[in-house]
Amino acid sequence: MTNKYKYFVANWKMFGDIKTVNSIYTVIKASKSRNFSKAKIIYCPPYTLLNTFVNKLKKTKVEVGAQNCHQSSSNGPFTGFINSKMIKKLGCKYVIIGHSESRNSGDTNILINKKIKSSLENSLTVIFCIGETFKEKKKNKTKKILINQIKKGLKNIKNIKNIIIAYEPVWSIGTGLVPKNEELLNNILFIKKFLRKNFNYKKTRVLYGGSVSPYNIKNLNEINQIDGFLIGGASQNSNKFIDIIKKSFN
Ligand code: PEP
Repeated sequence: MTNKYKYFVANWKMFGDIKTVNSIYTVIKASKSRNFSKAKIIYCPPYTLLNTFVNKLKKTKVEVGAQNCHQSSSNGPFTGFINSKMIKKLGCKYVIIGHSESRNSGDTNILINKKIKSSLENSLTVIFCIGETFKEKKKNKTKKILINQIKKGLKNIKNIKNIIIAYEPVWSIGTGLVPKNEELLNNILFIKKFLRKNFNYKKTRVLYGGSVSPYNIKNLNEINQIDGFLIGGASQNSNKFIDIIKKSFN
């Protein structure tokens, strides 16, 4: 068994209702076992379920995060939005920012930077998603894209202690496609090195996200430099989610 602490972030996207929340009971139970002692499990359900998750997970070691937030730290006339202050007040500890699906819905690098700043101001840990599209990968632009997303997303942020990076190649999300281990290791190392050099911080955790499943998790765990996983589809099935975590530790 590896001794390393690993993150398992469940991104439920725009799925789930009050009834499906009950399905996480088996995950809560499993989280108490010795096998899971090095697993940091974080649920990121849709806004409508945040309160239910926070209450359900209160006396457990499983934590809760939101999937996005508005860029304004203070409350105001922003119909349809929720800010980081509200998310924090609700009892969440994390927020995902910059997910490719949010970028596709209009989150630019500039907006992402504002959202990250407001989330840090409100003492949330940010799970900052970056990653290249298939077209960019084919044109050998991956590193350029990653640098651009990091530089713009973290502009004027000095302390990145409360930032977790989720490297998610866009072409891997929900497609069943996963980068080859060599390519993945290369990109993870590149991100870590870039952060170390430009932000003078050595300990940033870098997660991988994109079609993680019980079938590919053993192989992904061969890459020692991955500090955990951001899991979409498979995290909505508690048996699969538990399986992924279990297989990460033996
Ligand atoms: C995600 O939602 O960030 C994700 C990686 O989804 P999936 O695991 O379904 O590819």
